Amino acid sequence: MKNKVYLIDVTNRDGVQTSRILLPKLSKTMLNIYLDEMGVYQSEIGFPTLKHEVNYINGNLELVKAGAIKRIHLEGWCRAIPEDINLTFKNCPDIKHLNISISTSEIMIQGKFQGRKTFKDIMKTTIDAVKLAKESGAETVGLNAEDASRTELDRLIDFVAAGKEAGADRFRYCDTLGADDPITIYERIKALALATKFPIEMHCHNDLGMAEAVSVAGAQASIESGVDAYINTTINGYGERCGNCDLVSTILALKFSHGLSEKVHLDEHVDLKESWRIARYASYAFNLPIPINQPGVGSNAFAHESGIHADGALKDRRNYELYDPEDVGRGEPELLETGRIITTGEYGGVKGFRHVYDKLGIHFHDDNEARRVLELVQYANLHTQKAMTDDELRFIAHYPDVARKIMTANP
Ligand SMILES: [Zn+2]
Repeated sequence: MKNKVYLIDVTNRDGVQTSRILLPKLSKTMLNIYLDEMGVYQSEIGFPTLKHEVNYINGNLELVKAGAIKRIHLEGWCRAIPEDINLTFKNCPDIKHLNISISTSEIMIQGKFQGRKTFKDIMKTTIDAVKLAKESGAETVGLNAEDASRTELDRLIDFVAAGKEAGADRFRYCDTLGADDPITIYERIKALALATKFPIEMHCHNDLGMAEAVSVAGAQASIESGVDAYINTTINGYGERCGNCDLVSTILALKFSHGLSEKVHLDEHVDLKESWRIARYASYAFNLPIPINQPGVGSNAFAHESGIHADGALKDRRNYELYDPEDVGRGEPELLETGRIITTGEYGGVKGFRHVYDKLGIHFHDDNEARRVLELVQYANLHTQKAMTDDELRFIAHYPDVARKIMTANP
């Protein structure tokens, strides 16, 4: 079987840990559902060791059991230390996928541990953590080297070999500071993959504006070395500082760039047509506009005005467009209600609530049955502080118990 590129979206972990941007747990849940429908391989759903994430994570694991989340791996992130592994399985006993992280570069080991730990100590803790995660019930463990791009290659090879030996399933190469360039990462990943024959995840940040270029170059090196590649993405590129590798741009690059489309094959489950919906929902939920020039989903992605361009695009759209609006799920007109409208939410009553749900095709037997869901919708709206979307309303009606759980946080 040919090696492929699989996508691991980290919006619900790296995206939300970012300064000054945040998501309610209901929105994180909707993103997991949308990512699943988009055919993304794995969603890094959050922090199982963080108290206020526990109900949300357990609720999402229940959605897997209920069949609402079908194929995607829901994976938790924690530090590669036995204490975190134990706490993870205490808080979320049903979690099956984990990525565990530790710094490997000398600059971080010196800077963070200030002489209290050596690389040898780190290797030992990591191996213990991988073994413990597997013994505790993890089906897959991704071993993350934070600051891998500034870690000596020989040291990284030792680290990966030890992780593989201990039972890890993949290695995450973190370009934590966004310091790599495409050629450098290609060479480093090639050496690493050839030496270890272990699947590699690219986790690249955008501090130099190259997150997608670096990620696909690393993936190409993995594939050419005979191992699967995984690219960590976030929706609309949200993430620490200047962001992470953008989900839609990455899919576009793998499908439409001349060099990659023939050589580097993307997991065939990924459906690019879901791009528009997920990008717009993330923008809405994060309260951050999509830049006008965002690849695929920006409002100018298919706009032409200047004389030569408009004339050329009108004669044949291939003159000035690499892909079509329909490829990313655009092109359908959207209805905007400009007249009377009934909405439901934090202060809604049962009559308006039932009217809204009737329009969604969801009917309740009587007002009493409706009131039980209405109460959840009131809380959900309190929780998100934004007008409820149709999909959010549908989700709450179909999975009221999970909705209640994910919104419950007791300090
Ligand atoms: Zn990161």
